[in-house]
Amino acid sequence: MTTSPLVQLWNYISKDPVQRTRVLKASSFSFLNKIFDIAPEGLIGLAVDVVVRKESSFLASLGVTDVVHQLLVLGGLTLFIWASESLFEYLYSIEWRNLAQTIQHRLRIESYDHIQSLDMTFYENQSTGGLLTILNDDINQLERFLDGGVNEVIQVTTSVVVIGAIFFWLSPQVAAFALIPMPLILWGAFYFQKRLRPLYADVRSSVSVLGGALSNNVAGMATIKSYVTEKRESESIAALSSSYSEKNAAAIRTSSAFIPLIRMFILAGFVMTLIYGGYLTTTGALAVGSYSALVFLTQRLLWPLTRLAQTVDLYERAMASADRALSLLRTKATIVSGDKHLLLSIDREESKATTPSSHADIEFRNVSFSYGPGRTVLHKFNLTIRAGTSTAFVGTTGSGKTTLVKLLMRFYDPSQGSLCIGGTSIKEFSLSSLRQAIGFVSQDVFLLHGTVLENICYGTEGAGLDEAIAAAKIAEAHDFVLQLPQGYQTIVGERGQKLSGGQRQRISIARAVLKDPAILILDEATSAVDNETEAAIQRSIQKMIVGRTTIIIAHRLSTIRACDSICVLENGEIVERGTHDELLKLGKQYALLWRVQTGEAPR
Ligand code: ADP
Repeated sequence: MTTSPLVQLWNYISKDPVQRTRVLKASSFSFLNKIFDIAPEGLIGLAVDVVVRKESSFLASLGVTDVVHQLLVLGGLTLFIWASESLFEYLYSIEWRNLAQTIQHRLRIESYDHIQSLDMTFYENQSTGGLLTILNDDINQLERFLDGGVNEVIQVTTSVVVIGAIFFWLSPQVAAFALIPMPLILWGAFYFQKRLRPLYADVRSSVSVLGGALSNNVAGMATIKSYVTEKRESESIAALSSSYSEKNAAAIRTSSAFIPLIRMFILAGFVMTLIYGGYLTTTGALAVGSYSALVFLTQRLLWPLTRLAQTVDLYERAMASADRALSLLRTKATIVSGDKHLLLSIDREESKATTPSSHADIEFRNVSFSYGPGRTVLHKFNLTIRAGTSTAFVGTTGSGKTTLVKLLMRFYDPSQGSLCIGGTSIKEFSLSSLRQAIGFVSQDVFLLHGTVLENICYGTEGAGLDEAIAAAKIAEAHDFVLQLPQGYQTIVGERGQKLSGGQRQRISIARAVLKDPAILILDEATSAVDNETEAAIQRSIQKMIVGRTTIIIAHRLSTIRACDSICVLENGEIVERGTHDELLKLGKQYALLWRVQTGEAPR
């Protein structure tokens, strides 16, 4: 059975006893505030009662016979009621707001932490926009609901129930008349809400189209200028902006009609109480004081109903948001961490080829894998990569090279077979120790909005400037970093946009060097660079791979010439394997590719 979002939200909030108490306290404060807010109408009734009936008034029946004393008691009560109303308003607003802040913060952080722990498959099946909407809009919607919405629900309910009860207590006949317009008011409120909802949806969607166009244009300003399309773009933004204004105008026309129309219905209830209650009072069936209280209370009974539809809408939206945010938290990761700690050593002796430490060999044993139902990417794939050696994967795009390294980092698990390091399935190792042992330089370099130094040290806690410089030297990044305006303290800009593609790549290599991993994976590490930079990167790769198990995925064969082993992949299978010289001698696909790339054969 699915639990309602309200229950889910309550369960989520009440996990923390402090917040549970806060909800109960805040709800009581909202209730008490409303009671003290309604009470002055009762005071009017009492005051009229005192001046009309004097010594036989209601207060006199409680023992205060003197009229002046009765008025003093009323004055005292008024002070008490108004002070209490203010006090409880202050208290509920503090409690609800603090609750809203605590819950939105907790939910956002928990959701973020949770999605960080989910598999790559999760991200492929979710749009980035959808996830951001949950992390921002849905959580903000909940914050708004807790901040004002719950109080609104409690107060509208309290008003209707308490005032309705007073009406029936004072005069059931007048109550029946006053309640006649109630269905009309409710109908009107929900009717307008229904009409307004699509109009507001139009407003929101046109503002998001406008926002999207503005941000797209600002980002693409260089293109706009170079194609001299400023006028055209100004016109299209103007068109979007006026469409937004028109949508807003339509919503304003409808929403403005709401209050005047509803006032007519309330007027009907008011007039009925006035006339019929007045008539009953003149016949002596209703006390004058009760009549005064009822006349004033009619409006207090009916007006809150106009907000009911809005409140229901706020409630529904908040529940939809709660459902989305909390079900995100329930999404389970399918890649489960093992509990063994993987610790690999690096053999820094240059003689690595002769002393491979077989305890750390990487093996693909009968691995089958597909990204989803449909085409199989790997079928019973077998490969052993000797520890401390370098292996390159080449082959056409889509042949499965990147998939092999994603499996090794456990971004995905194979559907059959296993991957082992030193004879132990990688599923048995903790995810953090496995990934800690691997240095990955991917084709899409991810730089933070921070300094060059912070970017090099990313993921290596406690590393200082000296170590970063040493790593940058190996990555051949040191010289260009020194030429940047603030050297290692230069801010690289969002996603590193103030650096060139080759510079970003060298920073990410320096980051991998600093991490000093036993297994190094370079995915098309030289894809975005010119020949000179490529030569520099090649030199740094030669320095880096010593003693490490290295996997290089490359298009440019010159990068991998010196590798101990080169695998040519096709449709998820190894079709050729050997050293550069052996494969050239073989004279098949690799040899052909080599000749094409070195210009020895026509392209
Ligand atoms: P390569 O690195 O050799 O270019 P990949 O390992 O990236 O190839 O891809 C192998 C095959 O798997 C391709 O057919 C590709 O379209 C498919 N593929 C890669 N990533 C995904 C993914 N996330 N979802 C679905 N299919 C994918």
